Amino acid sequence: MKVLKFGGTSVGSPENMRAVMGIIANGEQKLVVLSAMSGTTNSLVEIANYLHKKNKDGARLVISQLEQKYNKVVTELYKTDEKKEKGKKIITDIFNTIKSYTASEFSEVVENAIVAQGELISTALFTELMVENGYKAAYLPALEFMRIDSDKAADLFYIREHIAEVLKNAGEADYYITQGFICRNANNEIDNLQRGGSDYTATLIGAAIDSEEVEIWTDIDGFHNNDPRYVENTRKIDQLSFDEAAELAYFGAKILHPQTVLPAKLQNIPVRLKNTMNPSDSGTLIASQSSGKGIKAVAAKDGITAIKVRSYRMLNAYGFMKNLFEVFDFFKTSVDMVTTSEVAVSLTIDNTKHLNEIVAELKEYGEVEVDTNMSIICIVGDMIAEEKGIATKIFDALAHIPIRMISYGGSRHNISVLVSTDLKKETLNALSKYALNN
Ligand code: ADP
Ligand code: ASP
Ligand code: MG
Repeated sequence: MKVLKFGGTSVGSPENMRAVMGIIANGEQKLVVLSAMSGTTNSLVEIANYLHKKNKDGARLVISQLEQKYNKVVTELYKTDEKKEKGKKIITDIFNTIKSYTASEFSEVVENAIVAQGELISTALFTELMVENGYKAAYLPALEFMRIDSDKAADLFYIREHIAEVLKNAGEADYYITQGFICRNANNEIDNLQRGGSDYTATLIGAAIDSEEVEIWTDIDGFHNNDPRYVENTRKIDQLSFDEAAELAYFGAKILHPQTVLPAKLQNIPVRLKNTMNPSDSGTLIASQSSGKGIKAVAAKDGITAIKVRSYRMLNAYGFMKNLFEVFDFFKTSVDMVTTSEVAVSLTIDNTKHLNEIVAELKEYGEVEVDTNMSIICIVGDMIAEEKGIATKIFDALAHIPIRMISYGGSRHNISVLVSTDLKKETLNALSKYALNN
């Protein structure tokens, strides 16, 4: 059974939801993962932020605006009065739940429960839409099978076992509809796979049910060779290998959640990116094979902090690296890029939750310098790190841009540079103009 995931814009209006129904309903049995309607998760995060700041009036105002929006969606989505009533009840129940959280003490658990409501609404409304139109659709509660462990990593073993059970309980249907993004954690509380996580839900489910293909339906015709939000005239790529797509997603290509590729790669399940607004386009295929040579695509990851540590002991700095990495390990902070010299190490992190403690500890071993607001620019292509002339091409293109770090050789498919975020757009454009294969 194929898994099809539709993102926020794809289900962002009654009209788009009907378009999604048209794409799905071809008689082939499938499992459909939906995001929240576009804008909803942001509003839910805003509500939680108000509650965190103890501004209940602020929270109530956003809740009532969001509820009004959904009441309008319901009137436009369904044809019959019976379904309109059913839709209204779904909205009233979910908004009563959201309102009930304004009375409780704020906590991360409350925040996660609020933020989860967007996907619960979109899937409940969409299942009713399919039923109203005569399709055999069944609703699958993701909170009964999606799970992360105490390290916040997806628990595929649990997911596999429990989705089988949930599918069995749902009975025979042509279209199974479930929520992206949301899950439970090791304490059985509601949690999520981080922003944009519905893509990851889709490949996790794909792996759990041994799907033959996962399709990620979005608002663009596939994976582009550069970020269309910052660069004009980007071009769609027809095919990427799992490794290339994984590097691009991890290093900031918003079209895929950073962890999406791994479950598909491990089980060799092809992932196809498709455009809901232009379904006949072939999109981008992500599979084990790559195609084409040279630099294929570029992505940028913001919010990077660079840390340089210069050892106090200038010579024979034996054990220095081990000591440094133990600090990051202790604070469960992952390191993305690393460059070294005899006496100094530069590295980058994106999680700054423990930055102050990390810096304090690192000062035991050397002088510490911190640069914030940096971006990693990730340049990807099959075997580019082994192809002659590629480095020259990249550095010629970036001749006018101050580069803080370079990472070459960590992967055969990726060369990364670190620049100040102020220079991100210029860097992406320079690479498009002078280095990308067009
Ligand atoms: P969805 O809501 O369907 O998950 P997203 O907004 O998360 O959609 O992802 C699609 C968006 O990703 C596109 O509209 C585009 O602006 C952005 N994007 C960033 N980098 C790329 C890229 N390399 N190729 C295609 N889209 C990209
Ligand atoms: N609704 C969630 C978000 O906006 C998950 C997703 O869209 O993938 O981040
Ligand atoms: Mg997304």
